[in-house]
Amino acid sequence: MRFWRLPLDAKKYSIPVGELHIIDDRCKGCGYCIEFCPNGVLVLSKKFNVKGYHPPEPLPGKEMECVNCNLCQVICPEFAIYSTLKFSKELSEEDIERYNELVRQRRKDFHE
Ligand code: SF4
Ligand code: SF4
Repeated sequence: MRFWRLPLDAKKYSIPVGELHIIDDRCKGCGYCIEFCPNGVLVLSKKFNVKGYHPPEPLPGKEMECVNCNLCQVICPEFAIYSTLKFSKELSEEDIERYNELVRQRRKDFHE
């Protein structure tokens, strides 16, 4: 879910960090998981699977940004991707700044 501002009680909650599991050879390269991941964690890799498709992989630098929402698991037509909970973390000042930057960017995109 995308908010237009940081919820006032956000610091009361911990953030789940997901461990991604991608079964490369099941993937058909449709890109749904990439398109709909709410955190923009995924990208098509350059490698080929046995069917000749490019399976997804986490974007370099975004490996820790999966929030274990399981949307990719639900949306994948080939059951090729899922996530499990790695750990939960408290909201840090960097998370808040990163979030605020995202919101600023979305507002800018919305008004352009
Ligand atoms: S579990 Fe959610 S946040 Fe993690 S990669 Fe899948 S869609 Fe993205
Ligand atoms: S949704 Fe499934 S089949 Fe489509 S690119 Fe992602 S992992 Fe591959």
